[in-house]
Amino acid sequence: AKEHDDRQYVYYQEDMHKGFEEEYVLENYLRVAIENEELFLTYQPKQDLKTGKINGMEALIRWSHPKLGMISPFKFIPLAEKTGLIYQIGEWVLLEACKHNKRLQMQGFDPLIISVNISAKQFNNKEYLLSTIDRILEETQLDPQYLEIELTESVFQNPTVVKPILEEIKQRDIRVSIDDFGTGYSSLSYLKLFPIDVLKIDRAFIKDLLENEDDQKLTQSMIDIGHGLNLKVIAEGVETAEHIDVLKTMNCDEVQGYHLAKPLTADEFVDFLNNNKSR
Ligand code: C2E
Ligand code: CA
Ligand code: CA
Ligand code: CA
Repeated sequence: AKEHDDRQYVYYQEDMHKGFEEEYVLENYLRVAIENEELFLTYQPKQDLKTGKINGMEALIRWSHPKLGMISPFKFIPLAEKTGLIYQIGEWVLLEACKHNKRLQMQGFDPLIISVNISAKQFNNKEYLLSTIDRILEETQLDPQYLEIELTESVFQNPTVVKPILEEIKQRDIRVSIDDFGTGYSSLSYLKLFPIDVLKIDRAFIKDLLENEDDQKLTQSMIDIGHGLNLKVIAEGVETAEHIDVLKTMNCDEVQGYHLAKPLTADEFVDFLNNNKSR
């Protein structure tokens, strides 16, 4: 037994890179993050390019750990997906986001659409996902037309499971947006197979839009595909006024990005709306 233990120890020391232990520690912290109120949502506005109006916002999760500081969702969302914590976190995000949107409406602001990121993994359990959505809409009394879910192309790897779920979601009048459009590996045929309302062009195409002719052609093509299928098209990662000008000439419908605003806390978002109104 001693020999075995030693071998395990050596294995641990040499082969298990630091990342594994770090992940293990992080997982345990994440388990209690909701109860300890370390998670919060930020909201990044979306703007309609034709009217100039703010017409929506995306909920983006943040984790502020008392010792580790801010931890990026790029780090803990994949961990939450791997460990199953995404169900609990996803539920919390949806509730907070719907509450925030309802609160803004109660305060008298023009109704906005709140977009919530849903992981592919959350589609694994149809009944759970749908009953969670129904319960939260009921609890917050948010009109479903002001809720949008953002999903990535990865969900379409499982068409027989995902299609009926999206159809149920559409029946409730909730909008469906394809996030990071253009970066996945799936065929475009899903655009006609699934009930989709919005294409969200990934930041990768917008970043060098001014200089890179290929990005210009790809972006214009994605906008044309979207419009050909009666979908709205939004560009993410819009950082400059020049980006806006180009996207306007390309007939893009909406923009989101640092040029308009970084993701804002709930209070900052209210200030943002007030400042925007008086402009
Ligand atoms: P995403 O859904 O593609 O979100 C856009 C990311 O780009 C956000 O990063 C946002 O802060 C950032 N961003 C927005 N405008 C700009 C810009 O002009 N320039 C640049 N460089 N970046 C911009 P964030 O907030 O760190 O989120 C990272 C990713 O984590 C998200 O990518 C999404 O995949 C995931 N995520 C965030 N919140 C949630 C959540 O509540 N649930 C799930 N399942 N995933 C989430
Ligand atoms: Ca998103
Ligand atoms: Ca995105
Ligand atoms: Ca992206």
